[in-house]
Formats: sequence, C-alpha cells, structure tokens
Amino acid sequence: MTAGAATETIAAVSTPPGRSGIGIVRLSGPQALAISLQLVNPHQPLEHGHARLADVLDAGDGETSSGESTRDAESPLIDEALVTFFAAPNSYTSDDLVEIAAHGSPVILEFLLRRALELGARLAEPGEFTERAFLAGRLDLIQAEAVRDLIDAQTLTQARQAASQMGGALSRRVAPLKQSLVELIALLEAGIDFAEDDLDVTPQAEIARRIGELAPPLAALEASFSRGRLVHDGLTLAIVGRPNVGKSSLFNRLVERDRAIVTASPGTTRDLVTERISLGGIPIELVDTAGFREGAQELLEEAEQLGIRRSHEALAEAAIVLVVLDATQSLNAEDRRLLAAVEDRAAIVVMNKHDLVKDAAAAARIEEAASPGIVAFSTSAFTGEGIAGLREGILTLATGGAAAEPGMLTNLRQHQAVATATGALADAAKANAGGIPHEMILLDLYRALWALDSLTGQTTPDDILNLIFSTFCIGK
Ligand code: GDP
Repeated sequence: MTAGAATETIAAVSTPPGRSGIGIVRLSGPQALAISLQLVNPHQPLEHGHARLADVLDAGDGETSSGESTRDAESPLIDEALVTFFAAPNSYTSDDLVEIAAHGSPVILEFLLRRALELGARLAEPGEFTERAFLAGRLDLIQAEAVRDLIDAQTLTQARQAASQMGGALSRRVAPLKQSLVELIALLEAGIDFAEDDLDVTPQAEIARRIGELAPPLAALEASFSRGRLVHDGLTLAIVGRPNVGKSSLFNRLVERDRAIVTASPGTTRDLVTERISLGGIPIELVDTAGFREGAQELLEEAEQLGIRRSHEALAEAAIVLVVLDATQSLNAEDRRLLAAVEDRAAIVVMNKHDLVKDAAAAARIEEAASPGIVAFSTSAFTGEGIAGLREGILTLATGGAAAEPGMLTNLRQHQAVATATGALADAAKANAGGIPHEMILLDLYRALWALDSLTGQTTPDDILNLIFSTFCIGK
C-alpha cells in the first residue's frame, strides 16, 4: 500500500457477477480517461460529472485473444453504454475515474475489463477504490468501513446507520475528544519545556479537571458499542419450552406472519425455523426450536431427536433465550430444568396461554417461575395480549437500555480503539493523582491519542488497513 496520488490505473467490474440489466466497469487512475476512450466512443466529449452515451468499441483485428473471427466487419460496436467521467481530484478515489455502464452481460463486461487490462490497467484489489479514497484523505477509516457496511446492510436501519457513519457522525463525535486530548498534551509538553526556566508547571488539579472532563464523553462513546454492535450484527433469540406451550404461535406473533406450522399435537416443530425480525432497528434472528422432551428420547422419532439436539445447540448459541411456559399447567421437572439452564443467561420467561387462566392463577405461576434477574411476561399468542410488552422486554434486554444515538461504535476494531483510549486516560488520571512526573503522564496521554487516531485511520498500521479493505467487494 502506498500513500499519495496513485500511479497505477485500476479497473474492475463493480456490479455483481451474472446477468443483469446494467453492469458497470470502473476505472481509476492517471490512465483511466485515455484507456476508456479506447474502449468506448462517446457521442459527446466526456465532461466531469456528466453521463454520456457512448458506443462500446469492438477490439481491432488481432487484438482479441480468441482466434474466432465471427465479427461483423460492418459493425465495430458491440454495445451502447453510458459513460461518466469524474476528473481528479473531485472523484470518489480523488484520481480520474470513469464508470462505463453497459448492458449487464457478463460477456460484455469481461470483454471491457480484459481490454482495459490489455491497455495498461491493473485489476483492482477488493476495496481498492475505497482504499484510494481513504489514502487520498477523502474518507477517514470509519467512513471507509461505513461504505462496506452500507453495501453489506441487510436491514434499512443498518443501512441508515452506515450512511450516518459515512456522513461522518462518529468521526464528528471523536474529533472534539481528540482536540481536548491534544490541548492537554500541549499544556503538559509546554510545562516540561519551561520547567527548567522555573515557570509554573500545570497544577495537578488542572490536569485532573481536564481529564475529568474528557473521561465521561469518552466512556459514553465506548458504551455506545453495546447498541451500535447490535444494530450492526444483530442477535439470535431462541424460543424454547416443552411441546405445545405455544412456541410456534409466539414465534408467529413476533414475526407477524404464519411462518411456523402450528398444530395441536405436541412435537411438530421438528426442525429449527428461523426468521429475522427488526426490533427498534435491531435485526433479531428468531429461532423456533423443537419441543424439549427428555427422558423418553428412545421413543421419539429420529427426526425429532435431531430437532431436539438442534434446539439444544440453538439454546447454547442464542444471545437471548425465551423460555415459554404454559399458564394452564404447573411447572414440571422439564420446565424447571430449562429455567435452571438459563439462570445465568440473558433470558425472558414467557407465561403463555394467559387467555385460558384467571389473572390470579397466572400471577401465582409467574411467581413460581420467577428468578432474580429474569423478567417474566404473561402473553397470549392466541389473542395477542402481552405481545407488545414482550417485544419491549426483548428490546430492553438486548440493548441493556442503551438508546440509539448518532455516531455509535459499530465494530470491534472501533471499540478496541476507544477502550484503549479510555484505559490510557484512566492511567493518566491515576498517575496524576499519584504525583507522577508529567513525562510519565504524557506517555499515557499519547497512548490515548494514538488509539483515537487509529480509530479514524491516522495511525493504523498498514497490515491492519490491508485486512480491513480486503473485506470489501471488488470494484468498491
Ligand atoms: P409449540 O409446540 O410450543 O410450538 O406450541 P404451538 O405454538 O404449536 O401451540 C400448541 C397449541 O396451543 C396450538 O393449538 C395453539 O393454537 C395453542 N396455543 C398457543 N398459544 C396459545 C395461547 O396463548 N392461548 C391459547 N388458548 N392457545 C394457544
């Protein structure tokens, strides 16, 4: 990876492989325009930011690699395209950039790409267009990651979050924190420089005050990861309970569609049924598990045993477990075993079939099932009663109550950077309180600054950068 203006021209097909209405070949670099003009013949001169109709030129004699000569000599064209030119530095990559939108035939797109390579372009690495934008300083690393997140988004909320990061929401949140840190560092550095001249060094209380001002917003930024990660990654929620308690019915209520088969005979949900829902913008993968029935396994059909094993796996892997109980029946050994299994987990107890029991009886049942730290809800999958409350309960448990806010940390890399900064700042506070020399406090402050800089990519080592951009798709 090299910083500064690109010397090589890169090319790639930027649309997904396969047939489509339109497919785009993208070129970026000093030769982008010259190469493009050998690929296409625009009907009007190319002009920055304007799309131009153009003929896609067939290769001249001897220039195609295949020996076939079925080409119609009368027609030097093989397609029509829309060509858009962006002149450096006002392009996505900051270099000259040309996008050729041809018909989305893999044959045409491959032909254009192969011709571009023959004419001196190099095949772009995954994410190389965005990497160039980053290296040119058009995007910081957070924004570059957001480009990838936007492309990978599976829900509209994820796309919105990515777009807000792309627009710099997180970068703007980090900037004033970094500024305060730089000012504090400058203050201490100046104090050290002047110490020999017997000038006043910054008093301990002043350093403590400044660190004290910086710590809460930095901690809040670190804490935003709990919600930001959820929006970014989503979570899995397993619905467990013995047969016939209403798991599938609840699943359907939460999904609001008749996805799982509901029947009155126990044990019909043999396989895992999953469906993605969005609660408060958080993608939640609901897993409806087969009924848990232990003890008489030898009597169960093989398929059902498989289902039960999968249920146990789903239970183990899920971030949140919904233990469904039947309000019309008292807790049996199996219910108790399930409740015990989720004792230390993020779990919710659902007392279902509330419509069939009197409130007092339901209250007593809930009391019976209750355990410290696990909330319980009464629901009726039949009437829909209590479902809204259950949704709220799931959301609260998932987010730990953290609200959505602009500029949340969304990935582990970002979180680690901020956690390093918070840790280093705490060390600086401790050193200051202990009357440690300013040179040593500065080491901690520089560590915090370095971490914040790595967040936006200013001090991110090349190998990490390579790793990040390699997770992009080709052509982006
Ligand atoms: P699962 O085996 O735990 O998935 O249970 P199902 O969702 O298949 O439900 C078993 C039976 O209980 C079906 O006949 C449902 O219609 C019924 N059922 C589920 N939830 C309720 C409820 O809240 N109230 C009433 N009255 N019946 C319910």
